[in-house]
Amino acid sequence: MKYLGAHVSAAGGPDQAVLRAVEIGADAFALFTKNQRQWKAKPLSDDAIDAFRTACSEHGFGPGQILPHDSYLINLGHPSAEGLEKSRDAFLDEFQRCEQLGLSLLNFHPGSHLNKISESECLTRIADSINLVLAETRGVTAVIENTAGQGTNLGWRFEHLAEIIDQVDDKSRVGVCIDTCHAFAAGYDLRTAEACTATLDELGKVVGFEYLRGMHLNDAKSAFASRVDRHHSLGQGNIGLDAFTTIMRDPRIDAIPMVLETIEPAIWAEEIAWLRAQQH
Ligand SMILES: [Zn+2]
Ligand SMILES: [Zn+2]
Repeated sequence: MKYLGAHVSAAGGPDQAVLRAVEIGADAFALFTKNQRQWKAKPLSDDAIDAFRTACSEHGFGPGQILPHDSYLINLGHPSAEGLEKSRDAFLDEFQRCEQLGLSLLNFHPGSHLNKISESECLTRIADSINLVLAETRGVTAVIENTAGQGTNLGWRFEHLAEIIDQVDDKSRVGVCIDTCHAFAAGYDLRTAEACTATLDELGKVVGFEYLRGMHLNDAKSAFASRVDRHHSLGQGNIGLDAFTTIMRDPRIDAIPMVLETIEPAIWAEEIAWLRAQQH
């Protein structure tokens, strides 16, 4: 069973995201639980929490079908003590919001070394950030997303993800989310069924499918191995449709939210229906 959806807007409250997912025929969705471009947010009100929980149960969404995404400002591998503390505080707040909403996954980009510390120091800081927050929360898994490797962002090699996981104490509450556009831009080919299967084999070998807790299904406007993150609608970018058919038929990918972050929300319903139809 593959759960399919899109990253929908939570404008008007998190319960509105549930309704937007229903409208496009989704059985999964992603959302921000606060404004993703601001450090601080008002705490969630009891009413907002109740409305979200009610909407989820009315429409049949369990926590395993929902993949919240944290703020873009957070850098869990920040080289400065001050930047790191600010990021860790905000990350803890994101986790606590998920706990309040009854969610079990939190998707985030690992972090950037900003050319101030080494890659391995940065990866250790990221793992330490995860350890700190996992120790203070219950029931929410830290889901590290692979990146396109823009600028000094880490997490574009599967080895980076494995190195972080290796340093996380509670392995039961850490996982990864693989974004197809990011993988392709980072130099993992997906353009044919064979290339896509080889990339998935590599993921299995380096990270392991037991850690795969979500996927972002995006075609790429950016070129192969360009380290540039530009999403496109399925079949309209440089990856092409074969990758998505292959992914939908791969039995190693199961029971996780698979979320579109493609650029045309008006065709999400169509993209979801097409993806569903690719399964045997
Ligand atoms: Zn993504
Ligand atoms: Zn992206």
